[in-house]
Amino acid sequence: MTKYKLEYLWLDGYTPVPNLRGKTQIKEFESFPTLEQLPIWGFDGSSTKQAEGGSSDCMLKPVRHFPDSTRKNGVLVMCEVMMPDGVTPHASNKRATILDDEGAWFGFEQEYFFYKNGRPLGFPETGYPAPQGPYYCGVGYSESGSIARKIVEEHLDLCLDAGINHEGINAEVAKGQWEFQIFGKGSKKAADEMWVARYLLQRLCEKYEIDVEYHCKPLGDTDWNGSGMHCNFSTAFLRETGGKAYFEALMAAFEKNLEDHIAVYGPDNHLRLTGKHETAPWNKFSYGVADRGASIRVPHSFIKNDYKGYLEDRRPNSQGDPYQIASQVLKTISSVPTE
Ligand code: ADP
Ligand code: MN
Ligand code: MN
Ligand code: MN
Ligand code: MN
Repeated sequence: MTKYKLEYLWLDGYTPVPNLRGKTQIKEFESFPTLEQLPIWGFDGSSTKQAEGGSSDCMLKPVRHFPDSTRKNGVLVMCEVMMPDGVTPHASNKRATILDDEGAWFGFEQEYFFYKNGRPLGFPETGYPAPQGPYYCGVGYSESGSIARKIVEEHLDLCLDAGINHEGINAEVAKGQWEFQIFGKGSKKAADEMWVARYLLQRLCEKYEIDVEYHCKPLGDTDWNGSGMHCNFSTAFLRETGGKAYFEALMAAFEKNLEDHIAVYGPDNHLRLTGKHETAPWNKFSYGVADRGASIRVPHSFIKNDYKGYLEDRRPNSQGDPYQIASQVLKTISSVPTE
């Protein structure tokens, strides 16, 4: 028997966006455990805005697990929060609101800033560095910053070690800003992996005494880009059948549900979706071929392929919860008939 360190991860009850929480328990197994072997566990919901003090137990139901290469015999266990009966989803459990996602593929592009002492990494103590221009996909100490490069490389390896379907990294437009992409066949899979990738990044940064800033416009109303989390999506129908009429009906449904989408696309998004810095205004839905100034960007390949393929909703922001984002996208898609 081997003693495994099981790191149970869950999302707390903070609004508008939840925080990651995690705690470890040690269990013995013959070999690396299967998901079914991982027990339900409990925690004090009164400390996470998920219960009142008088009756504070909440349950953690393992839903996906990954090897943790930073720890000897480590396992990362992503969980859903359940009521004390262990079967009823807690109100904060948005993963449980995702409609059947059979055939849905999601790719999330997570942008974020590294922060040191309350300032973006690489910014001088006062004032600003040279303006945006050379940083996007840049190379060299002044462009990318040596610690940042080290962290993103290490994070990439941690994700790959865990079996997360990490698809790439790039330095972003603002200094101290980076991006990584996670793709999953199944919205729950993609969203679970995004949350665990965020966890790995935050935990890694502890060691470098650097914070991850997910706010969508940390530098406010300046000429520094905000951070998004573009949501690329497709369904089996969109990939295999599609068609112009269906596409137009789908875009009409996205337009009609604008408020419901914006409500879950991350806080303070009106500060970011202004119409500047490669964004569309938050209160006006638009779509366009290869248009980075539209709400939804339609790839060239989609049109060439008779309106089949994937679409990119550029509105979700860096602080958004991928469970809630995927849930709303699938809800709107399901309102459009496919016959
Ligand atoms: P850009 O920065 O130009 O918007 P990225 O390469 O950063 O593009 O992100 C594109 C994302 O689209 C990737 O995460 C990729 O996995 C995702 N993607 C590609 N094909 C599909 C598809 N059929 N369904 C859903 N997502 C897809
Ligand atoms: Mn205790
Ligand atoms: Mn990208
Ligand atoms: Mn980007
Ligand atoms: Mn994009």
